[in-house]
Amino acid sequence: MAGLDPAIHVSDQRVKKDVDARDERGHDVERLALRNYIGFMNSPAPAKTRPRGVASAGRPALLLAWYDRHRRRLPWRPLAGERADPYRVWLSEIMLQQTGVKTVGPYFEKFLARWPGVEALGRASLDDVLRLWAGLGYYSRARNLHACAVAVLCDHGGAFPDTEEGLRALPGIGPYTAAAIAAIAFGRRTMPVDGNIERVVSRLFAVEQPLPQAKPLIRQLAATLLGAGDEQSRAGDSAQALMDLGSSICTPKKPACALCPLNDECVARARGEQEVYPRKAPKKTGALRRGAAFVVTRGDQLLVRSRPEKGLLGGMTEVPGSDWLAAHDDKTALKQAPALKAVARWHRKAGVVTHVFTHFPLELAVYTAELPARARAPEGMRWVPVATLGDEALPNVMRKVIAHGLGK
Ligand code: SF4
Repeated sequence: MAGLDPAIHVSDQRVKKDVDARDERGHDVERLALRNYIGFMNSPAPAKTRPRGVASAGRPALLLAWYDRHRRRLPWRPLAGERADPYRVWLSEIMLQQTGVKTVGPYFEKFLARWPGVEALGRASLDDVLRLWAGLGYYSRARNLHACAVAVLCDHGGAFPDTEEGLRALPGIGPYTAAAIAAIAFGRRTMPVDGNIERVVSRLFAVEQPLPQAKPLIRQLAATLLGAGDEQSRAGDSAQALMDLGSSICTPKKPACALCPLNDECVARARGEQEVYPRKAPKKTGALRRGAAFVVTRGDQLLVRSRPEKGLLGGMTEVPGSDWLAAHDDKTALKQAPALKAVARWHRKAGVVTHVFTHFPLELAVYTAELPARARAPEGMRWVPVATLGDEALPNVMRKVIAHGLGK
């Protein structure tokens, strides 16, 4: 149990008892309590003798049995008993980062039809990959996807490494994606933990520690759901079972506990406190930043540019704008308007656009201008038809700005 945070708090009578004992004996029993806790969970004691929600050697088996009956049919998922194709698993996992299953489906099919294997993708041009990716957003993923295919082709003879460590060394593959590919494609005994799985596990065990500090504990608890013995060879299915459970049953609001295969032992459910978990540390919101955004049209086209690759909203599309500062003033912001000779005067739209990022709230004044048909875009900017804005990697804040600027 090395690496455990001694300040872990897990809802469990057995742990509570051991923690209380520390005061009497002065021992470091929180760590001991966790060791007992995990050991107890893995013990073969009959379920009826265990405190509710604590230990069940059958939990992994229940999960797999449920998965065998209710697994989602997904374009990248092989049929029961078939071997997963590492290329499909990798391609889908990259596309699913920050994007839902429904959106990814058609893109996955298009990519597979055009490049049926990693070798073909590794030989494709980056421009072609970006073109087919258009509309899926977060374009750094497409660049990494291509770089990864090239690396697999050139450095690994066209075969993906079959360990988490080897996978993590590839472009665009972080800890979650590496664990997901290792488990699903290669049957490695590892449990990828994303937001869905965090939610299921934190409810199942009523993890009191808030996120993100609780992540190491949740990873350890999630790993206990991999099971031992026969279930061990089905690590990929266990991972996908938890993914499916999190997305279809143990939803953020109103989880369908009656349909959950683990409902008998879920601590949060027993207490009627499902939506309390996962606990989250209160958000620290920074100081309000303000700025100006310039919505410039030329007929039915809009002036846009790409943000720098690194930093907030890296590589995404935006309308030109000023810096976002706590000490903002309109005059200074207007000096950062795009240099357009045809604009005699900027028109300021009434109201402001507000947006809350994780670490600061933002308020943008929106200025508009209409240019003649032959007006040229300043360097580093381009005209795009308003009708095809959906193909641009536009962050939500820019969608709001454009809607406000165009008066929609
Ligand atoms: S019983 Fe309900 S809250 Fe608990 S894991 Fe299942 S769906 Fe989630």
